[in-house]
Amino acid sequence: MTNLGQPRQSGHHIRGSASAPVEGRLFERRSPVSGAVVARYADGTAEDVDRAAQAARAAFDTGPWPRMSGAQRAKILLRWARLIGDNAEELARLEVEEVGKTVRFARGDAAGMADLTEYAATLAYEVHGDAYTNLGERHSAVVHREPMGVVGLIVPWNFPGLIYCQKVPFALAAGNSVVVKPSEFTSATALKLTQLAEEAGVPAGVINVVTGTGPVVGQSLVAHPQVDMISFTGSTAVGRKVLEAAAAGPKRAHVELGSKAANIVFADADLEDALDGTLFGIFFNQGECCVSGARLLVQESIADSFVERLVARTRALRVGDPLDERTDVGALIHGDHLASVVRHVARGQEEGARLLTGGARQDVAGLPEGCFMQLTILDQVSERMAVFQQEIFGPVLVVTRFKDEDEAVALANASSYGLANAVWTRSLDTSIRMARRLRSGTVYVNTQIDGAVQLPFGGCKGSGFGREMGRAGLEEFTQTKSVMVHIGKRVPFFGAKGE
Ligand code: NDP
Repeated sequence: MTNLGQPRQSGHHIRGSASAPVEGRLFERRSPVSGAVVARYADGTAEDVDRAAQAARAAFDTGPWPRMSGAQRAKILLRWARLIGDNAEELARLEVEEVGKTVRFARGDAAGMADLTEYAATLAYEVHGDAYTNLGERHSAVVHREPMGVVGLIVPWNFPGLIYCQKVPFALAAGNSVVVKPSEFTSATALKLTQLAEEAGVPAGVINVVTGTGPVVGQSLVAHPQVDMISFTGSTAVGRKVLEAAAAGPKRAHVELGSKAANIVFADADLEDALDGTLFGIFFNQGECCVSGARLLVQESIADSFVERLVARTRALRVGDPLDERTDVGALIHGDHLASVVRHVARGQEEGARLLTGGARQDVAGLPEGCFMQLTILDQVSERMAVFQQEIFGPVLVVTRFKDEDEAVALANASSYGLANAVWTRSLDTSIRMARRLRSGTVYVNTQIDGAVQLPFGGCKGSGFGREMGRAGLEEFTQTKSVMVHIGKRVPFFGAKGE
């Protein structure tokens, strides 16, 4: 496994520069692949969050960014997108090192970071309000669309750069300033992307990054009185805490939470495509993906042969060093998470599920400390089992059979989550009916973990609310202001009074 060199060391990024890290107030990130220390970051405190929030406040209240035209902001964001493209290989490798994802897919993430930023730049031209000219001859009104102010952005570890780019460029396009809290496991890309933003011309203080832990940095950020809005992506359990703390403000909170997506295969599907999509749906990014197709619902008439082929194809995938271009699946984020994935599988077996392949930690030659998990399939899973209901967030597929469309819909919707589902069928009618009946923010038809920057993304039910990407992803970071204008001399409100 190649290493990027000496462990990186970094302080917070506040008011336009990275502060020097203070010895004794740093935490380490160990590679989930080799176990070696790859980085040391400042262990943020409530005071650090306060400095960052004050910097963002000053940038918003008196700085140039929210006062620029949309076109000026767009030009700077486009320069940022180009710099992201120029630095894509480094961004990809940082993510391989800290997340454990494969370099092949990390390159796709880096390209996505540039695409998201470019798209957000184009939206900056289009943030405008409305005019009401039909209110009668004595009134005219305009509805301004204004930035929220200072936005606190909390990012998880599975797609640190992509999720940063689903939030920061959109918040900036609308004129906000931000404080970002990356996951303590994956701080590198947030710091690098912020440095590139300032090289592109984003003024100091508009983006601030405070590294550290959720209970200290994250919680202080949500509670900070100068923070006008929170946008959080992470688990449903932490999302609940964020919502409670935001309610105390009160302040607006947008939450993108967990999921347990169904991947539904009808007998009339192109089964080769469905097999390929099922494998990608569960094993892409080690199964650590919010929209992973973690529940395979397969029609009874084809189930036995489909599952048999799936097991054979699963065994042929290569788990190992993520920097090796031939690797399909890398390492899980850390040892505690690996242990939790193994426990979920054991619990599934205790509840009566049948283990078809995998189920344990995987040894990889030369990487004895790597957090690798065998690719796992559990069959005979019913909707009452924990493995059907709970998000495992690892390479574990659970299989349930269905008779007909009604049963497929009932099983897919028998989840507290509602982020995404996928359907495989050759029937146009079935695909349209299923897309209407499935309760999730996204439905994939004959594809998996797919999308485009123009499409709004987000959940319903326990997967949260609010949208990222698309026009909606920018509007999340804005509020309206109605300006009502009276034309000409008023008739007195209380009627004319005699002298
Ligand atoms: P967590 O909920 O554990 O953490 C998410 C972020 O919140 C991290 O930066 C974390 O910091 C921080 N945090 C932790 N505790 C608090 C707190 N009390 N107050 C404020 N912030 C806090 O999620 P993971 O990082 O483990 O990510 C995996 C989860 O994210 C999965 O459930 C997945 O489904 C979900 N996810 C959802 C997506 C969506 O679009 N709906 C997309 C991607 C992931 P720290 O890391 O330091 O603990």
